[in-house]
Amino acid sequence: MSRTVVWFKRDLRVADHAPLAEAARCDAALALFIIEPAWLDSPECHPRHVAWLLKCLQPLRDELAARGLPLLVRTGDAVEVLAALRREFDFTHLFSHEETGPGWSYERDKAVARWCRTHGVAWTEWPQTGVVRRLKDRRGWAARWQQRMGAPCVPTPTGLCAAPGFATSTLTSALPTLQQLGVAPAPNTPAAGEAAGHAMLASFLGGRALGYRRNLSSPLTAQAGCSRLSEHLAFGTLSMRTLHQATEAAIRRAPGSGGDDPSPARLDPSHRELAYALRGFAGRLRWHCHFMQKLEDEPAIEWRNFARTADGLRSGDGSELQAIDHARLQAWCEGRTGFPMIDACMRQLRATGWLNFRMRAMLVSFAAYHLWLHWREPGLFLAQQFLDFEPGIHWSQMQMQSGTTGINTLRIYSPTKQALDHDPQGEYVRRWVPEFGTPAYPQPIVEERKALAAAKERLYGLRQTREARDEAGDIQQKHGSRKSGLPPSGKRARQARATEAPSADDAQGRLF
Ligand SMILES: Cc1cc2nc3c(=O)[nH]c(=O)nc-3n(C[C@H](O)[C@H](O)[C@H](O)COP(=O)(O)OP(=O)(O)OC[C@H]3O[C@@H](n4cnc5c(N)ncnc54)[C@H](O)[C@@H]3O)c2cc1C
Repeated sequence: MSRTVVWFKRDLRVADHAPLAEAARCDAALALFIIEPAWLDSPECHPRHVAWLLKCLQPLRDELAARGLPLLVRTGDAVEVLAALRREFDFTHLFSHEETGPGWSYERDKAVARWCRTHGVAWTEWPQTGVVRRLKDRRGWAARWQQRMGAPCVPTPTGLCAAPGFATSTLTSALPTLQQLGVAPAPNTPAAGEAAGHAMLASFLGGRALGYRRNLSSPLTAQAGCSRLSEHLAFGTLSMRTLHQATEAAIRRAPGSGGDDPSPARLDPSHRELAYALRGFAGRLRWHCHFMQKLEDEPAIEWRNFARTADGLRSGDGSELQAIDHARLQAWCEGRTGFPMIDACMRQLRATGWLNFRMRAMLVSFAAYHLWLHWREPGLFLAQQFLDFEPGIHWSQMQMQSGTTGINTLRIYSPTKQALDHDPQGEYVRRWVPEFGTPAYPQPIVEERKALAAAKERLYGLRQTREARDEAGDIQQKHGSRKSGLPPSGKRARQARATEAPSADDAQGRLF
């Protein structure tokens, strides 16, 4: 007789959910979400994350209840919650998705695995992204991604068999509030949950995608022009496979898209824009997993440089932060550096929880090069602010934009050039920094030219050492993207190209 607990984590949906589908084959089941103090107390957690989570749990509970499965929401250490639950419901199986999370969740998973072994509970985990556990070699990764995402979505089960004695009591109990969890209020969290995710996807593929490439770089247009699906991926209200397949279907449906995977360049000009946009978006979905794989393969990148030859380059890297760094960090976090584009972006982020890629990269580049700050503290601050915080993408990008990966071309953003290119009328700056141009606005905290010259000298000097060059080869071997190993022609070659590391908007190597 199989009795299972479906442990929901970063997969707050019922569609394309393998653990849930498997639970339908068991004799009795319960769904569980654990609000963990380890998460609430982690330096990356912000009230907006907790508020959004609670907004996702309500519709999830309704969807599960409609299928006969009660969702218990318990607060506490994962092992203690599981042990207490086992005294109420003698489960034999634990089903969940794999997670590539920060250090605390990795440690928690190890503790849960030990508990399961000791107590004779069989824990099965299913992948939900393109991340491959215990990956030996990056070769063939792209082809595997394609295969996994191309497989049919898992059907949502209808009649689940609830554990005896649970159904009514749990379905009527209220979810905890922010106040009960000791979390500050978080106003203005966007629409949350699976239905909101599908609505966002439909509005993107069904219309907004047309302007995607034109709108994604400027902070004035990106907020409405980007897909805005990142928090849905981070909390799993939509599965990566659902997104991938919906995008592929939109590519096939797009006007002028007849034939077997034609290159957008060969399309009629009036149809080209949408084709390029959809392909660009599809490529970004692969990057999502490409970056997560780096953290899966090397969990330490959350704390230490990819390139160990960069250790000690900045203070805070094995040494105490200096007073000047504290002052610079604080000004950067508060959006009062005296660089209007930087301050406007930081203030938008703090107010809304979202910023487009280019402006995120500019904020980090400014912290890393202009202010010469180590990436860890700014990274923690940004992780709190981003509603879509996804550790694998986040820490990889923090290091990429700080010049410590050893393999990516250094890319330094000039806030002045970004303002000229993406906010030429100053509309965005005026919106977020109304005091700009008045005596209330601070002077620039660094002299840009001098700061950049010093940063370049240190970094280019390091890159040219023999040790750094040798190490770069090893890092490329372990983490760098490469062609999938498929023949270099036709449809497969195009797929392989699309799975390589970011290019186009993210092209490296110039002063931006
Ligand atoms: C310093 C820094 C930190 C970042 N931290 C995160 C993070 O914690 N979580 C996160 O989801 N993204 C992160 N990004 C990547 C990117 O900025 C966001 O994915 C994007 O802005 C989210 O908005 P969107 O969903 O509208 O993106 P879109 O442009 O519409 O892209 C669609 C999806 O593709 C993926 N994607 C897009 N760009 C990238 C990229 N460069 N690398 C990997 N995946 C990408 C995301 O899943 C995104 O939702 C970070 C970028 C930088 C420079």
